Order: sequence, then C-alpha cells, then structure tokens
Amino acid sequence: MHRDSDLVHLGRTSAAAVHAVNPPLVRASTVVFETLEQYRQSYQSRVFESSRYGRSGTVTAFELQEAMARIANAETCIATSSGLNAITAVLGAHAGPGKHILVYDGVYGPTRIFCEQSLTTLGTRVSFFNDGAEARRLINDDTSLVFIEVPSSLTMQMLDITQVCAAAHERCIPVACDSTWGSPMYFNAHALGIDISIHSATKFINGHSDVILGLITGTYSALETTRQWCDRYGSHASPDACWLTLRGLRTLAVRMPRHQASAIEVAQWLCRHPKVKCMMFPVLASDPGHALWKRQFSGGAGPFTFELQPCNEAAFERFINALKLFGLGTSWGGYESLVIPAIPYALRSVKTLPDEGRLVRLHIGLEHAPDLCADLAHAFDQMDE
Ligand SMILES: *Cc1c(COP(=O)(O)O)cnc(C)c1O
Repeated sequence: MHRDSDLVHLGRTSAAAVHAVNPPLVRASTVVFETLEQYRQSYQSRVFESSRYGRSGTVTAFELQEAMARIANAETCIATSSGLNAITAVLGAHAGPGKHILVYDGVYGPTRIFCEQSLTTLGTRVSFFNDGAEARRLINDDTSLVFIEVPSSLTMQMLDITQVCAAAHERCIPVACDSTWGSPMYFNAHALGIDISIHSATKFINGHSDVILGLITGTYSALETTRQWCDRYGSHASPDACWLTLRGLRTLAVRMPRHQASAIEVAQWLCRHPKVKCMMFPVLASDPGHALWKRQFSGGAGPFTFELQPCNEAAFERFINALKLFGLGTSWGGYESLVIPAIPYALRSVKTLPDEGRLVRLHIGLEHAPDLCADLAHAFDQMDE
C-alpha cells in the first residue's frame, strides 16, 4: 500500500473492539490480569510493546509505535515523553566512562547543552564535527555513537549523511539522527544508513501545537540499549499524547505538501525583498546545500531562516512586533505560522563568526501564502519608521 493509505489505516487495530473509526484512548497506571499465567507472560515480552504497567505503555502507545515504525520503514519504534527525551535517551544509552560520542556541530541547542553539561559528567568524552571528513578524522576506538541532525538547527546547513554513515559503519559505530525537519514524509532516514532515527512528533507529525512527544525508530537490535534506558528512566509517552499524535498523523500526507508549497512561495518572495540579505533554506536552488538536500530528501517544508540587511535593534523589534499572522514563539510544525529571532552562534564551536546580521526563523503554517507575504511586507515597512 502507498504510504498515504498507511497513514489512514495503520494503528487502528484496537478500534474494531469499540466499533469506532479511531482507536480508544486507554489510560492506565495499573494493568489487571485474569490469571497468573497472563501476568507472567506480560513480563516475557518486550517493554513498551505489551501492557504490564502504565509506564510501559497502553494499547494507545502501541498503536502509535506500530504505525510510526511502518511509516519510517523501521522494525520498531519507541514513543517517549518529548523529542528531547528521545534524544537524551539515545545519547545516554551510548554514554559511559571512557566512551566517546561524536556530535554534529549544528545540533538543536538543548541537544548540545545535554552533551556538554550532562554527558560529560557521566564520564563521556564529547567532540563536535562539521562535515564527513572531520567526522572520519575524529572517530576512534572509543567512539560509541555518532549523532547528527540534518539540516543544522537554525542555519539549515546540509550534511553529507552517506559520508558520515560510511565513516561510522566502517568501525561498526551506530549513527543516530534527529530527523524532525524532514518528517517521515520527506526524509527516509534508515534508507540513507541511519541506525537510530529520532523525531520530535511535537512538530509536523502531531501538527497542531498541542502535544509534546518523541519517537525513536530503528531495528530491535539498534534500539536495544535505548529501550532499556527508557525503561529505567521512565521515559514513556502519556496515552493522551499518543492518541493526539495518532490523530495528527492521519493528515500528515495532506499537510506536508501544503506547508512545502507555501514555504517555497514565501521564501521566493523574501528572496526578492530589499530588506533581506540572504536565505537559509536548502530547498531553494540558490542555497549552497541544495544539491545535498535533493539527494537526501524528497521534499522540504521548512522551517527556514533568513538574514536581514544590517539594522538596529529598534528596527528589528518593530519588524517582529508588527507581524500579525506569525505567532512569536518557539517550535514549529503546527498549522499556524511562527517567527523567532535566531541566535545560533552562541551554540556552535566556532564562536568567532562575525555578527552577520540578524537572523529570523520562520515556520510557514497552513494560512494562504499571499496573506503571509502581505503580513511580512507590512512588517518590513515598519522598520523604516
Ligand atoms: C523541537 C525539537 C526538538 C525537541 O522536541 P520536543 O518534543 O520539544 O522535546 C528536538 N529536535 C528538533 C530538531 C526540534 O525541532
């Protein structure tokens, strides 16, 4: 079946019992068994795949995990309480005294903070790299994991994933990737060689800005230590969050092309605006990462970033505050458009980059794209006073 049909029909096995289209929302702390035999059996199967206690998930989580595993072309999936929790579980499961974790320099800010401030206290050495060649140079006998995110957070730079995977796999080191930007629609992580793929389902997968949830996909063997970590740390997702995410998933194939088309329309409009100095959006043919994006992704819906022509703080504030259709707030992937000022360089190894101007990060929602352009045009006009 085509993936669009899978998105509609997967994860609904339990719906038949309640004669409804949607699976029931099963909230439980205690799971009760009819016989001692059944109770014992529940502890023979994998944690997060069978009901034994609420922390191990209920059928609501199992439905979501099964659907996501299929959509991501993976053997299995673990749902966690947040995207960040999924990331820290994967990193934590590969950490330990004497181990080395190699991390892409462009990762999401909280991922970097966890690496620098929590992994190191677990006795793990962390180093950062910028491209495949540097990754190959920094991998050594102690390396237990290579962690990437494509494109880079805020600045949207591309990375040659195949090159990084080749360097890691030569030494039998797994590669984990924060795949949130591409979504399962536009990024087939496992086909590119990634062993452990992570999505903040908070973004496009749920798509309605009302849930925090993480999803980790891979083979059973690639996820084994992460599964143990999630079990020990109680990292499971709540049934309510899983239920809402399953509902969001149903319309993913409809929402993504619309996000993409509008993001391209707004980005092309911005390219022509005299107040815009440069665009950071690999979907545009003019972007230095465009060729790599084309090879590694089947689409791109944003978010994207642009650099303003030099301006003072007051003009920048007038621009941001004048936007009416763009909510000023963190996150993306929902139906509404969002804007944030992007300050990436505080979180990168190279701190000496000159202040090249103010960066604005946009998420293009499901509004009519010309309305978004008109909103931006009006806000640009306010910069001049
Ligand atoms: C939002 C985000 C996360 C964190 O996800 P939460 O669900 O908010 O914890 C991780 N990585 C990327 C790329 C994100 O955009």
